[in-house]
Amino acid sequence: MSSDQSKRLRALPKVDSLLNHPQANALSKQYSQGLVVQGLRELLEEARQALLSGKDVEINQETLLHVCEKRLSCMFVSQKPAVINASGILLHTNLGRAPMAKAAAQAAYEAAINYTPLEYDLEAGQRGDRQAHVEGLLSKLLGAQAALVLNNNAAAVLLMLSAIATGHEVVVSRGELVEIGGSFRVPEVMEQSGCVLREVGATNKTKITDYKQAINDNTAALLKVHTSNYKVVGFTQSVEVEELSALARQTGLPLLADLGSGALLPLSGFGLMEEPGPREALQQGADVVCFSGDKLLGGPQAGILAGRKDLIASMKKHPLMRALRPGKMSLAALEATLQLYQDPNFALRELPLYQMLALELTELNRRALRLQNELQSLSGLTVRIADNEAQLGGGSAPGESIPSLALALQPKDITVDTLARNLRLGQPPVIGRIHQGSLLLDLRTVREDQLPALVEAIQRALRQEDDPLA
Ligand SMILES: *Cc1c(COP(=O)(O)O)cnc(C)c1O
Repeated sequence: MSSDQSKRLRALPKVDSLLNHPQANALSKQYSQGLVVQGLRELLEEARQALLSGKDVEINQETLLHVCEKRLSCMFVSQKPAVINASGILLHTNLGRAPMAKAAAQAAYEAAINYTPLEYDLEAGQRGDRQAHVEGLLSKLLGAQAALVLNNNAAAVLLMLSAIATGHEVVVSRGELVEIGGSFRVPEVMEQSGCVLREVGATNKTKITDYKQAINDNTAALLKVHTSNYKVVGFTQSVEVEELSALARQTGLPLLADLGSGALLPLSGFGLMEEPGPREALQQGADVVCFSGDKLLGGPQAGILAGRKDLIASMKKHPLMRALRPGKMSLAALEATLQLYQDPNFALRELPLYQMLALELTELNRRALRLQNELQSLSGLTVRIADNEAQLGGGSAPGESIPSLALALQPKDITVDTLARNLRLGQPPVIGRIHQGSLLLDLRTVREDQLPALVEAIQRALRQEDDPLA
C-alpha cells in the first residue's frame, strides 16, 4: 500500500462524525437513523475497497452524504415508481409488460386498502367462490363453458397438464417446444407436471399424420403451443387448431392450446398479423385454452384457463390450485379489465397498450418536433428525429415491427453509454436503446404526459456527474 493510499484510508470520515452533519440529521428525520447509519457504513466500506484496489477517488463528507441521500431515495422509489419506457417495446417483460387501464388500477387499489367480498357470498351471508364473478365474465367473453384464473400463464400450463395428463403422454409438435425466457420451457414444464412429452414431426414441419401415429393407449392429450417469440420461416408446415380438433374428436382426446398472449381484439388494424384468439380457438374445437393476463389482454399478471366444464372442474379441485391462485388485487384488476372488453371499442380506447398501438406517425412526429425544440438549447447534445421500429414484444407478434419515431441523441461531452446510464439511473429512469452511436428514445411507448419529465431527465443526465463510487 502506498503512503498516499493509507493516508486517504485514514482520512475517511467516521460514521459518528458524519451523523453530526446537518444533512445526515435531515436524512434521519426523513427516513430513519438506522437506515442512514446502515447506508453510511456500506458506503464507507465501499470507499475502503475502492481505495484498497487503487482507485483514484476523492471521498469527503459531502460526497458520502450526497451519495447516501441518492441511494436512500432510490430505496424508496415507491413514491415515483414509473419508468419512462422509450425502448419502443410495448410489452417489455422486464418493464412489467402491459400498463393497465385506469379502471383496473383503481380496482386493484380499492381491493388493496379495503376488505372485499373476495370469498364471501353477500346474499347467502356465508363463504362463497372467489372466482365466480371473473369466471362469469370470462365465459361470456370467450364463449366458454367454464374458466379459471391463476397467477400467470406458466401456472396455467402447469395446472392444465397436471390435472389432465400426469403419468401419461402428451403429444406436441417439435416446432412448438417453446422457451419463453426466464426458464419457462415447454419440455421442462411438462416434466414438472409429471407427464411424458411425446414430440412429433420436425422442427420446421409437422403434419396431422405425425400426431395420429404418436397416439397410443397412454396418450392423455394433444397440446398446441403458440410460438410466441420466434418464427420458423421458409419450408414450414404446422397443424392448426381446427384440423387438430378433428383428430381430438376422433380419438376422444382433449386438445389443449397454450395461446401465449391470447388477443381479444383484432391486430390487423395496426398492421400486425393476427395472434390466435381464445374465443376463436375454442370455436375451432380446442377443449381448453390458456393465455396471459398481462400480454395483449392489457391486464394484470395472470394466467387464464377457459374451456370444457369437466376439464376446468378437474383443475379447480387439483391440489396445485391453491398454490397457484391469484390474489385479491390481481382478481380485481382482471375483472375491471375484462369489463372493458364487453365493448371492444371501449377496450381499445381505455387500454394503454392499444392507445400506444393506435398512435399515428403524424402525432409522433408532432411530439418529436416539440421535444427537439425544447432540447435544442442544450449545448452538449445533438438531437435528430429518426425513423424507428417499435415492437409488441412480450412474446407477441415475433419478427413484426410497428413503424415509429425516435429521438436520436448524440451527446458531445460524455459518451453515449454514459448518457444511457445516467438516464437509466435517473428519477424517473428512462430506458432507451443505443444504435450506431446514438441513443434512440422511441416515442410510441412514452405517454404524452411523460414528455416534460423526459425533457428534464435528459437535461439532468447531461449534467450529472458519475457517482464516484459506482
Ligand atoms: C408468455 C407465454 C407463457 C408464459 O406466460 P406468463 O404469463 O409469463 O407466465 C407461456 N406460454 C406461452 C406460449 C407464452 O407466450
